[in-house]
Amino acid sequence: MIRLFDAHAHIQDDRFKASLNEVHERWRKANITNIASCGSCQADWVRLAELAGQMSEIIPSFGLHPWYLKEADSSWRADLIELLEKHPDAGVGEVGLDYAVSTREDQLMHDMFTAQLEIAVKMNRAVSIHCRRAWDVLPELLKSMNRPPRGFMVHSFSGGIGQVDTIVKLGGFISFSGSITRHRNKRGIDACRKVPLDHLLIETDSPDILPSGVEKNNAGRLPNEPENLLFVLNRVAEIRGMPAGELAEATYNNAVRLFHGRDNQ
Ligand SMILES: [Zn+2]
Repeated sequence: MIRLFDAHAHIQDDRFKASLNEVHERWRKANITNIASCGSCQADWVRLAELAGQMSEIIPSFGLHPWYLKEADSSWRADLIELLEKHPDAGVGEVGLDYAVSTREDQLMHDMFTAQLEIAVKMNRAVSIHCRRAWDVLPELLKSMNRPPRGFMVHSFSGGIGQVDTIVKLGGFISFSGSITRHRNKRGIDACRKVPLDHLLIETDSPDILPSGVEKNNAGRLPNEPENLLFVLNRVAEIRGMPAGELAEATYNNAVRLFHGRDNQ
């Protein structure tokens, strides 16, 4: 039986609130058995922890997203460590670097990224990284520090072939989202072919990044949701010229290695 691991989503997002039971039912029917759900700010960590207690598919990660660093209050470090201690399987994320936003503070972004990475290293947790237009900086920062023995993933990968090599050499997993379903995404398609199968992941980033083709099939059902991981699976399988079932199994096993720190036997 096919089973799927959505390596990056935000199930605690307010946009899911009204319909979460239906969304849950649909991902179960689609055999999505695990979802790595990432927090973005202290405000959503609470709801995420609560959902992780209610839905066995959810593996939470707690972190401060580069867009929300200014909202963090001084207790963020203590709060993060406390949550990680309470949730031994939880990861650290979503953390990272975003050079595509118009007003940014590089120093703050670097400091908060490395501080959270240090916590992940110390507690041996998986790290989920957001990187936009910071492809020169991210590898340098990663090289300059200890990296989590469990590994890390770069989510919704937007780099090219060169960046695939760099991230894989540093021990990272590369995850593709609905943006890979856009046929004009030539750079993504080339990169997708290049990722070694044992470093590949798939994700929805739901409720964002609705894959191409979803509107046609599920008229009126927005935003994006984990069920739509099938669109990402099928497109990545097509790009790599391999059976979708085989890809599902490989990406599932990779995500188990990253998030649970063991092989899936
Ligand atoms: Zn995300």
